[in-house]
Amino acid sequence: MSDTATTPSTVTFDQFGLHADILKAIAEQGYTTPTPIQAKAIPVVLDGRDVMGAAQTGTGKTAGFSLPIIQRLLPLANTSASPARHPVRALILTPTRELADQVAANVQSYAKHTALRSAVVFGGVDMNPQSAELRRGVEILIATPGRLLDHVQQKTANLGQVQMLVLDEADRMLDMGFLPDLQRILNLLPSERQTLLFSATFSPEIKKLASTYLRNPQTIEVARSNSTATNVTQIVFEVAEGDKTGAVVQLIRERSLKQVIVFCNSKIGASRLARQLERDGVVATAIHGDRTQSERMQALDAFKRGEIEALVATDVAARGLDIAELPAVINFDLPFNAEDYVHRIGRTGRAGASGDALSLFSPNERKQLADIEKLIKRPLDVQRLAVDTPVRHHHDERGSRRDRDDRGSRRRTTGAHERPSHGAHHRQQPIDDFFLKPYEPSPSAVSASAKREEAPAAPQKPASKQPLAALLGGFGMPRKTTSSN
Ligand code: AMP
Repeated sequence: MSDTATTPSTVTFDQFGLHADILKAIAEQGYTTPTPIQAKAIPVVLDGRDVMGAAQTGTGKTAGFSLPIIQRLLPLANTSASPARHPVRALILTPTRELADQVAANVQSYAKHTALRSAVVFGGVDMNPQSAELRRGVEILIATPGRLLDHVQQKTANLGQVQMLVLDEADRMLDMGFLPDLQRILNLLPSERQTLLFSATFSPEIKKLASTYLRNPQTIEVARSNSTATNVTQIVFEVAEGDKTGAVVQLIRERSLKQVIVFCNSKIGASRLARQLERDGVVATAIHGDRTQSERMQALDAFKRGEIEALVATDVAARGLDIAELPAVINFDLPFNAEDYVHRIGRTGRAGASGDALSLFSPNERKQLADIEKLIKRPLDVQRLAVDTPVRHHHDERGSRRDRDDRGSRRRTTGAHERPSHGAHHRQQPIDDFFLKPYEPSPSAVSASAKREEAPAAPQKPASKQPLAALLGGFGMPRKTTSSN
């Protein structure tokens, strides 16, 4: 694995034989050269092969699968008003609403000069407009698993003609407890189809999923961590826990950061930090599970428009966010799960740009730091940071206590809608409850959901702690020829 995820390749988009309408859209996006994952994946997908892709968000993988999907569906594109002429032919499943929304925006822009229709469905918002769009007919459907099953139940989505399936961020889907939903969906699809699975990590569970549902997949890898080494400058600042808020303000001011994502380990911590930053004159907002879907979308849009300097996020809330040319990310807390560190710093240095990953490290986070260094197989540059911004100790202390209470109570309570998240339990890691629920059914979907909840769930194994072999020097993926379903 010598190339990096985003180093421009010598291949050009013209060489793939893509239709002029697609090439036009690519040019309008400003893409001049395919990224390595695109150079590798596009020909394989155009060939009709199944793909097992080791690539994270930020490598250009969305175009890597979307462009050839659009090309393959073009012969079926038509302008008929009849819904029957627009069955769902490509299904793209993602773990989070934000990622679904972003993938859908990309697909729409790549297909905008074609007659192919696309739509996105995810939970937490009214089902009716989605149902109306599905009834009109769409060829490319982007969905989160729970809401898709609601539409299937309500007969607004029919998956009987799906020819191409994408499982995007498959590792995160399993981490979030989606395996039973995925299995239900996979069983609704024709067995004669092309399946593309993308994952940043390859645990035994992912390999099992692939060997069960993919046919003789072509393995495609790009080295995210190598590109991280060249594109992203990683610095760890040692500060006292109580100085962290001041440190964030100082880093933003000293480095003139206009747009930064600040990661916190808990949603309560994210809210508190956003409030404190605002008080210190940084335009900030938090995205996490206590905010509604539309609030989070608004916050993200405002951030993308440059109206917000600091977007304070929890890991799951930030998963899949695509913000072009983000100059820096700050880790307010070091994540409990070292893999999240790799995901977090992947928010910067995207598509070949350079970026800074700045982490605050307090003495009680030694274990997290050691885990990260073990995972990325190199020591991090630790510097002392003298914080001169006044800090509100009383807030921090009260917040820390509240955080502990919040974590404790979250472990004890299991809401009616909560899905199992073995990853979360395994790691004892605070994760927004909101995102552990695949969806929040709208009133019209409640009865459908209730029925599904009663269905026996397939057994799940705890999430694997296997290191990011795919990211950090390759993995020995057995090629398995197995009939699907
Ligand atoms: P993704 O990994 O698909 O989320 O893409 C990450 C970012 O890279 C998105 O902002 C894309 O618009 C951008 N991107 C994708 N392909 C290319 C390309 N060939 N050249 C430049 N930017 C790209």
